[in-house]
Amino acid sequence: MKTFKIAALAGDGIGPEVMREALKVLQVVGRKFGFRPDITEAPVGWAAIDAAGTALPDRTLALCRESQAILFGSVGLPARDPSIPKEARPERAALLRIRKEFNLFANLRPVKLASALSHACPLARERQGRGIDILVVRELTGGLYFGRPKKTESLGNGNFQAIDTMTYATAEIERIARVAFEAARLRRKKVTSIDKANVLENGVLWRDVVTRAAAAYPDVTLEHMFVDNAAMQLVLKPDQFDVMLCENMFGDILSDEAAALAGSLGMLPSASLGATGAETTFGFYEPAGGSAPDIAGKNLANPIAQILSAALMLRHSFGLHAAAAAIEAAVDKAIIAGLRTGDIFNPGETGVRLVGTREMGDAIAAALG
Ligand code: NAD
Repeated sequence: MKTFKIAALAGDGIGPEVMREALKVLQVVGRKFGFRPDITEAPVGWAAIDAAGTALPDRTLALCRESQAILFGSVGLPARDPSIPKEARPERAALLRIRKEFNLFANLRPVKLASALSHACPLARERQGRGIDILVVRELTGGLYFGRPKKTESLGNGNFQAIDTMTYATAEIERIARVAFEAARLRRKKVTSIDKANVLENGVLWRDVVTRAAAAYPDVTLEHMFVDNAAMQLVLKPDQFDVMLCENMFGDILSDEAAALAGSLGMLPSASLGATGAETTFGFYEPAGGSAPDIAGKNLANPIAQILSAALMLRHSFGLHAAAAAIEAAVDKAIIAGLRTGDIFNPGETGVRLVGTREMGDAIAAALG
């Protein structure tokens, strides 16, 4: 039986509650599809600071290195974070360190609005068109956030100048474009590449490299769109998008705009991919939301974002497409059956039932069986 080694880092707040449900679902889907998820749990975030004195202990990092993928919960507790220096806080010391350590250059954020949850979307129903099902592919390690020089300098007389530098090299654009085209092949086979080629040199190179990369994917339709228009189109006609390919900053902004269309953070998974190997792609999978301390420990959190993150892991790191699709279908089934955690509950809706974290996880696992 094929075995996949997974590091499960639940972290803080709702992390352990939603992780428990995702691991439950992974075991069920493994039995059904004939693979063994070899899961090792390890502390991260405040849980690790309390246990081992640091947000990312060496043993946790070593486990990640030995694994084929990391399934991550969330880290950070706003009430405790200020008690230690910024660089020791979980988001920097654990999350950013892992991203750097594993050279996670591609961020995938699927945004799918279940038709039964159209009430949770801020757009009117007629604007939702045929339904919202978008994958934002964001370059994560280049562009304006990391380019050098990056500084603030004095121009004298109390006048300062701040400089950020946007740089992209051909190889950086090519590899993220390939991720987008490959992902599109698993979906509706359309890539919308976002740039600002009318103003930025980076945009001209981006458009040029993406166009050339598209030649290897004749089955995928490529279109280009300026970022300002893309921001507008997302709220005017979101159903025109399948895969949106973005450089770092544009992806940061547009992925949050797209996320708002799904109605709740509790529904949104994400993947960050590293180097592509022959058989597996190392990946880091986590819910789009944070540790939600306001609802932690109360069986109120929606586990769907974590469960769908596990599905992304099966698809993108292990190539287990049918198993991933089965988890997604099981989530749809639970929603269609009327199960709702508090974040997606609309008291005016008929035929729905308010449930807790555990019950939602159980229902999804049962729908798989
Ligand atoms: P948050 O995403 O934790 O919470 C925002 C709101 O969304 C809250 O009302 C919360 O209850 C709700 N929410 C989030 N996930 C939910 C779920 N699964 N089910 C139901 N409701 C859900 O953002 P925040 O409050 O700004 O941050 C809390 C902590 O999380 C902070 O310490 C922050 O730094 C950290 N954080 C961590 C990550 C990460 O680990 N990747 C990401 C974002 C924030």
